[in-house]
Amino acid sequence: MSTQTETGIDTRLFIGGAFAEAEGGRTFENRDPWSGDVVSDVANASGADAKRAVEAAAEAFPEWSRTPPAVRQGIFLKAADVLESRQDEVVSMLARETGCTFGFGMFQMHFVPGLFRQAAALAYAPLGEVIPSDTGAFAMGIRRPVGVVGAIAPWNAALILSARSIAAPLVLGNTVVLKPSEWSPQVGGLLWGEVFAEAGLPPGVLNVVTHGPGEAQAIGDELIESPHVRRLNFTGSTATGRKLAEAAGRRLKRVVLELGGYNPLIVLADADLEYAVNATTFGAFLHQGQICMSARRIIVERSIADEFVARLAEKTSGLKAGDPSEHDTIIGPLINPDALATVQSRVDAAVSAGAKILAGGRAEGPCFQATLLADVPADSEFANEETFGPVAALQRFATEEEAVRIANDTPYGLSAYLYTRDVGRIWRIADGLDYGIVGINTGFVSTEVAPFGGMKESGIGREGSRYGIDEWLELKYLAMGGIDR
Ligand code: ADP
Repeated sequence: MSTQTETGIDTRLFIGGAFAEAEGGRTFENRDPWSGDVVSDVANASGADAKRAVEAAAEAFPEWSRTPPAVRQGIFLKAADVLESRQDEVVSMLARETGCTFGFGMFQMHFVPGLFRQAAALAYAPLGEVIPSDTGAFAMGIRRPVGVVGAIAPWNAALILSARSIAAPLVLGNTVVLKPSEWSPQVGGLLWGEVFAEAGLPPGVLNVVTHGPGEAQAIGDELIESPHVRRLNFTGSTATGRKLAEAAGRRLKRVVLELGGYNPLIVLADADLEYAVNATTFGAFLHQGQICMSARRIIVERSIADEFVARLAEKTSGLKAGDPSEHDTIIGPLINPDALATVQSRVDAAVSAGAKILAGGRAEGPCFQATLLADVPADSEFANEETFGPVAALQRFATEEEAVRIANDTPYGLSAYLYTRDVGRIWRIADGLDYGIVGINTGFVSTEVAPFGGMKESGIGREGSRYGIDEWLELKYLAMGGIDR
């Protein structure tokens, strides 16, 4: 079995500080979504491999949980430097493994070192409390790491989302088993084994278990069933998140879930139209619309709708789809043929039921054209399910109340966007939106320290730096009797 790709990232499991083959030497083919070529043969772990990873993490926990904050901080600062030194290789691997364009690859590559440096500061953040007592006891609340955290990460924004799934839990003194997606095993998983080993993370503190398509369950089961694993940190689809949360519930195991969204983008009549058109194409089509925060419903005030829609359709039609390694490509391939088929069939079904195509609408090789739909019937699958691709649907509204009602009319509540220059409308509408994240005149709402997460069926809990303190530490109550005893 080969252990290195052309990019140099190891292909074996990372357990207890060493790279090693999966049980029985099992591997799977990690394919390039643009060319279909095999990028690498990657270890295909079994439940037994996952168990070994959990045991390694459990063994490493007592010492790591008592490691001084300065040491944890230093490792994260070094990891940021190590990652930066591998920039070109990582951006090229993001394209090869996940079809990520150069622009979004560079964005991820700049984001994650910042995330690690913010996380480094977190090592000193967990303060305790002294609690007033009527009994004369000296009472304290102290925060302690929870144990092993199971991190399950997705393939989209593979670098950011896998990094976010491990950063706060680790720096706060927990040990981690990371299960990357089968569609990003190296750049969304094994890479971190290498980066953190070089940064000085002790063996067993981070473990990475990869697996082939459709084989997540055995590893997921181990993370749920093992008593060592005290928390699950999941980013992915609402369907999978629900399944994991149900199973974790039986074990009374806490989960943090960052799930899907059916995100609205509202354009009011007074918005700067040129800016709003550009921001909408960015918000809807960045990374081929395969971002949980992608704008999927464009809700436009009736009085400007004709002009806005014409300009948006023209801009959308001009977005180049193609090879993600070419720097001017805006729309790269979808992650795999099944994803492409799902997007095409949902668009076709919506059109057969009466929707109109204003731009795009077809596959182009492994890519799907940037697509705008109008008049999507309310009972179509497209109108009710998150369609993970570069397709947005237009709707019109007459009043502020109607805009908010349309925007909130979904079981999801991840992110919403609002374009207007009217301060009164900003506060009224932003306040009325049932979303965990609201971007006002910006589609770029992700910062390293934001309380990132959704309402309703978009998730539970918040990711992001200091907000992780509540998620990844146990608040423990200590009471000491009268001092005369
Ligand atoms: P997508 O369909 O976009 O890949 P998923 O929610 O299926 O979204 O994937 C997100 C993550 O969840 C991936 O790492 C995937 O392997 C993982 N996953 C999928 N099914 C399970 C499962 N039964 N147990 C644990 N993890 C799972």
